[in-house]
Amino acid sequence: MNFSIDAAQRERLAWLRELGRTELRPAGLRADRAGAPLPPDDPFFETLLAAGFGGTLWAPAGERRADHPTRGHSAVTQVLLAEESSYWDRGIGVATPGPGLGEPPILGMGTDAQKARFLGPFRNPPRPIWGAFAMTEPSGGSDVANIRTRARKDGDAWVLNGAKAFCGNASRAEWIVVFATVDPALGRGGHRAFVVERGSPGLGGFRLEKKMGLKAYESTSFFLEDCRVPGANLLGGEDYYAARAGFKGAMNTFNAGRPAIAAMAVGIGRAALDEATQHAREAGLLARERIRDRLERSRRRLKACMLLALRAAWLADQRQPNMLEASMAKAQAPLAALEAASLGKEILGLAGGRGDNLLDKLFRDVKALDIVEGTGQIQRVVMARQLLNLPN
Ligand SMILES: Cc1cc2nc3c(=O)[nH]c(=O)nc-3n(C[C@H](O)[C@H](O)[C@H](O)COP(=O)(O)OP(=O)(O)OC[C@H]3O[C@@H](n4cnc5c(N)ncnc54)[C@H](O)[C@@H]3O)c2cc1C
Repeated sequence: MNFSIDAAQRERLAWLRELGRTELRPAGLRADRAGAPLPPDDPFFETLLAAGFGGTLWAPAGERRADHPTRGHSAVTQVLLAEESSYWDRGIGVATPGPGLGEPPILGMGTDAQKARFLGPFRNPPRPIWGAFAMTEPSGGSDVANIRTRARKDGDAWVLNGAKAFCGNASRAEWIVVFATVDPALGRGGHRAFVVERGSPGLGGFRLEKKMGLKAYESTSFFLEDCRVPGANLLGGEDYYAARAGFKGAMNTFNAGRPAIAAMAVGIGRAALDEATQHAREAGLLARERIRDRLERSRRRLKACMLLALRAAWLADQRQPNMLEASMAKAQAPLAALEAASLGKEILGLAGGRGDNLLDKLFRDVKALDIVEGTGQIQRVVMARQLLNLPN
């Protein structure tokens, strides 16, 4: 595996660094201090659009895909960009307009017509627009096989009933990819994914969740009450699920999401380490061997996590199975970053308990990365089963 960063990647990283310093971090701090997500009409989102954010990885056959500042190309590039943008602000990364987490299932499962219909509007959008992804339910998120939202066929349409929780950008989204089951007894085999459009009858009850960190974007619960969805909004169409005996066949083994989440945690951890070092210097603490030792240990752990994330991403780019490496990176990085932020708060002393310092925000922000995309505990369960050759 080649660890070098090429000239094009270096240039993108430098551009992102400058945007992070001048735009992303100030906007993230603004939201954190207000204790609320930036509203959809905040001029900051227009700035992001002008900088090339907000688009889709999809393009009609024969047409060139628009470049996106932090996405696309390879999983390795994605990991590098995720680390850099999260160094400046992770919450803003999710608040950024675009199809978001709803895009991968549409790209992976959608028909050509569905890709054009739902992702087409994200090609050079004239104003900031969002998509969303809803799997988690109030009863729990780890046991995805047991989602309770029900889907029932009714003529040409589907009727959805259930509740979803902690869905990023849901109330501002043009559509939400909602996972439901046609029969809970079938586990993942009963899952279906629907694109539920804004204003669909029966979609409502949007309520912003309270969060300790990542306040720049909304995490929202909502319900579906006899929500009618046209048959054309079933992702992939009925043949897709028949051919794969349900949803399970759609899960792929080249995971690029978890390495990116790990890299985001490393970015937050690196920011915390820089802040911690700066405060230690200003307070004259760098002369103490024990402080230096803890700072060095923190950097060492973060570097090791970044290498793991790059390795997992590289495997994904080679189309080689990377479940173990992706889980290892995802399990380790948030804890290493939490340690960096915690050390920083200790170095701050009394000011570390006030709650208004950047280090305090980083401490609150990074915890969520141990929870999303499979909690750290779930990653450890997956790895232990893999070690013992048990089925996952
Ligand atoms: C900031 C944030 C943003 C999010 N955004 C989205 C989003 O956009 N869309 C979406 O669908 N979801 C989203 N989520 C939800 C997230 O995916 C879930 O929180 C996550 O899957 C964990 O589910 P849970 O919180 O319900 O915990 P639970 O599943 O209830 O688990 C509780 C605890 O038990 C542990 N546990 C559970 N099962 C086992 C087991 N078998 N063995 C050992 N330990 C176990 C877990 O690790 C956890 O510590 C978001 C969450 C957060 C915090």
